[in-house]
Amino acid sequence: MASEQTFIMIKPDGVQRGLIGEVISRFEKKGFYLKGLKLQNVEKSFAEQHYADLSSKPFFAGLVEYIVSGPVVAMVWEGKSVVSTGRKIIGATNPLASEPGTIRGDFAVDIGRNVIHGSDSVESARKEIALWFPEGI
Ligand code: ADP
Ligand code: MG
Repeated sequence: MASEQTFIMIKPDGVQRGLIGEVISRFEKKGFYLKGLKLQNVEKSFAEQHYADLSSKPFFAGLVEYIVSGPVVAMVWEGKSVVSTGRKIIGATNPLASEPGTIRGDFAVDIGRNVIHGSDSVESARKEIALWFPEGI
């Protein structure tokens, strides 16, 4: 399978809880390549753009407040099937349903504080990388 790229973000709770190294380590040890990384505070309008597909959801306002509540770590990872495999490493959206051994399964209990974001498709990854790394990687 051809190499691909995905967008991974450590959310404010993951940064505040000291999980940056843990997350990077899991992706590195799997065999993926870190292609871009920055610690960033984002504006409300930027968070709304990132989560635009969820704008009609009842939790949207809270989600945006969460993402702007502190710095996030934005990353691009590359490798074979990194989009779908990255989602497996991350685990299910609700940490109570995430398998142990996944990042959310090991480090979270609250769907509203689930540590990490990963693109859900190659097309989403392309859009998210363009949004977060407009300068290129
Ligand atoms: P994922 O991050 O697994 O791709 P979604 O794209 O469906 O999940 O949702 C984006 C983010 O919105 C989730 O990671 C989580 O932080 C938040 N979220 C999703 N569903 C809920 C919910 N029911 N209540 C609160 N927050 C939610
Ligand atoms: Mg999603």
